[in-house]
Amino acid sequence: MAKQQRMPQQLSREQSFAKLTQSPRFDMIVVGGGATGLGTALDAASRGLSVAVFESHDFASGTSSRATKLVHGGVRYLAQGHIPLVREALRERSRLLSNAPHNAHPLQFVMPSFQWWERPFYGVGLKMYDALSGSHGLGATEFLSSAEVRQVLPGVRSDGLSGGVRYWDGQFNDARLAIDLARTAASFGALVFNYCKVDRLIEDAGKVVGVHVVDQETKQGYDVQSNCVINATGVWVDGLRGADVSAANPHLNIPHLVRPSRGVHLVVSRDFMPTDSAMLIPKTRDGRVLFIVPWLGHLILGTTDTPVDTASREPQADTADVDFILGEAAHYLKRAPTRADVLSIWSGLRPLVQDVSAGQSQSTKAISREHTIEIAANGLLTVTGGKWTTYRAMSEDVMAHALAAKLLPLTAAQDCVTETLPILGADSPCNTPSIAAAADPDFVRYAVEHEFARTASDVLARRSRALFLDAKAAKKLAPAVAEAMTKLGIRDPDATSLVHLARQYQSCP
Ligand SMILES: Cc1cc2nc3c(=O)[nH]c(=O)nc-3n(C[C@H](O)[C@H](O)[C@H](O)COP(=O)(O)OP(=O)(O)OC[C@H]3O[C@@H](n4cnc5c(N)ncnc54)[C@H](O)[C@@H]3O)c2cc1C
Repeated sequence: MAKQQRMPQQLSREQSFAKLTQSPRFDMIVVGGGATGLGTALDAASRGLSVAVFESHDFASGTSSRATKLVHGGVRYLAQGHIPLVREALRERSRLLSNAPHNAHPLQFVMPSFQWWERPFYGVGLKMYDALSGSHGLGATEFLSSAEVRQVLPGVRSDGLSGGVRYWDGQFNDARLAIDLARTAASFGALVFNYCKVDRLIEDAGKVVGVHVVDQETKQGYDVQSNCVINATGVWVDGLRGADVSAANPHLNIPHLVRPSRGVHLVVSRDFMPTDSAMLIPKTRDGRVLFIVPWLGHLILGTTDTPVDTASREPQADTADVDFILGEAAHYLKRAPTRADVLSIWSGLRPLVQDVSAGQSQSTKAISREHTIEIAANGLLTVTGGKWTTYRAMSEDVMAHALAAKLLPLTAAQDCVTETLPILGADSPCNTPSIAAAADPDFVRYAVEHEFARTASDVLARRSRALFLDAKAAKKLAPAVAEAMTKLGIRDPDATSLVHLARQYQSCP
């Protein structure tokens, strides 16, 4: 069992930089502060290793704040026959719910059926989902009559409704969990930096021995050393791998590992389906899956899956995405939301992993599971894919690969302790405040002093979720949040960026 030394108090940004300057050598450097990077940093730090994490923007500002917010085993993978994958995700679902109960909770899902065969067909599949969860089950799958479906899902279209199936999964607040992971890793001594971009790898005799990072606020650069550098940059992994000629290591000229695929979500008022239960449409008219999920007093509708060529920071939905989501919702809801009802629209990018084995003889790669781990000839360990629900298992897998490749000191061979490790955050005065309370000076103070917030967007998009829930309301709060941040000594909380972003989230193509 690792010695779990917790830090008595969280370091300020200035104290963290002072520490980095004093001792710039670590057992592990993690690049990327999303679910994967923060999970890996926590795994390593809780085993007693010295760790530094560098995130170029805010924690979870990439894909990790843009999930559908489901803690799930993946009913979709079950249909595809990926039983071990589903079993692992169900186990991880249960661990997440018990390690972060302040952030994640069970949620009932109902699949309404309009064809006679749907209830038995999906019911049998979901009973199997139950069976696979074993002792980690959250509640039994049940067949519902049409009256029961109408009761659980007020707002569901009732003509032709023949019944439904109820099953259980979980729901969480993705960005807040990421912040909590950063705090928990820091409590084990990890140095965690947002707004710090790794702009190149440092190599010696063909091996990675560190990274050069630039503080995005002061533009000051730092050389930081480690033999174990984890590239957990999501859809941006190709930059550090050297496949992206506009970035990091253009000389390597290797094929791209990842192609991004856009998933769009629309948020509308809860009035369209006033309930605490979610609806799953297992097969839309063009064969996709669609969720209508209550979240923080609103409804999330989504998502789509559209391959795109570039991994932009703020991927934009197009007309077809919106038509698809609204069209399907109209098919299943009594009152159909229109473009005018959309309070916020946001998209995330999935990394679709491509087979780059040809010409990659010097690297090892495991795409056997939902995530992919590659160790390049220079020792850079790249991890991408997977899902939020399995971030912990992915992190454990990263550690196992890093150990096997002798990138880590032997002390890292201590047991992983994250299976039952409580995630900090239950102590936050107001875990996810109402939209209006996002500008409360006490909330802003906590976000700045304990949750690494540096800009108005950090507060309004990820400490509170105002921007994701109601972009117009978030825009109104920006000046008050910026003022409260300035009083706390933040030099440029950049309310203007939030206002621009809110305009984008507010306008439905
Ligand atoms: C539409 C959609 C819906 C989803 N829904 C669910 C769901 O309901 N449940 C679920 O379990 N999973 C879901 N997922 C999957 C889940 O969101 C992702 O698996 C997870 O967030 C990926 O995290 P990550 O850390 O790998 O990537 P990211 O969160 O993108 O993190 C990578 C980070 O690296 C940073 N970075 C990039 N370059 C650099 C650099 N040079 N220096 C420093 N930092 C850098 C980026 O800023 C970014 O923050 C969904 C995904 C999508 C796209």
